[in-house]
Amino acid sequence: MTTHTSPIIGLAGGIGSGKSTITKYFNDIGIQSVDADDVARLVVLPGSVCLKQIQQRYGEKILLSDGALNRSALRTIIFNQPEERTWIEELTHPAIRKEITKQLNSVTSPYALLVHPLLFETKQNAICQLIVAIDVPKDIQLQRVMSRDRISQESAEKIMATQLSNSERIERADLVLENSGNIAEMNAKVFKLHKKILESLYT
Ligand code: ADP
Repeated sequence: MTTHTSPIIGLAGGIGSGKSTITKYFNDIGIQSVDADDVARLVVLPGSVCLKQIQQRYGEKILLSDGALNRSALRTIIFNQPEERTWIEELTHPAIRKEITKQLNSVTSPYALLVHPLLFETKQNAICQLIVAIDVPKDIQLQRVMSRDRISQESAEKIMATQLSNSERIERADLVLENSGNIAEMNAKVFKLHKKILESLYT
């Protein structure tokens, strides 16, 4: 394995905490990122080893008509059968880790941002020099998820129940980024945080 050249900063936050929005701002100021959600989709694209195994286990019904993974069918299976969640995690997590490492290795900015909804849950915190947890009150998080994904409160809460709570994440992180304000406030906070990260890495 090649060694990466940029230090890795983890950005941990649950669904709807603002990871994508915050990451876009980091990208705008020149920080490259690797998004674990994107990688998780990449490793199950048509033609991938993971998708072949998923198809073998669940049959054609797990595919959409264009051959892509039917994510909502898979979600239903793993919500109702914990042993299937374990199976799918054992299949995909090593592939995801490998691809994340590969993408991190190609980063050339002063640090790489590893954006992950399950950073601690998947133990990817171990590869980070510093970890930032996004702090958003649960009611705001719920509202943002429901309006972005047009899902019920029950569905949003079900997903949140599979992730660490805000406070558990904050307890384990080095820095906290509060994202209950508007976008302009968030951008200003991210810029300050960026300076702080550079200082702590390079002075
Ligand atoms: P994640 O990537 O963590 O799931 P997103 O970045 O997609 O979260 O944010 C969830 C939703 O909340 C999106 O619709 C986004 O536009 C909105 N959002 C994020 N941060 C803010 C903010 N500071 N003010 C208003 N809306 C926000």
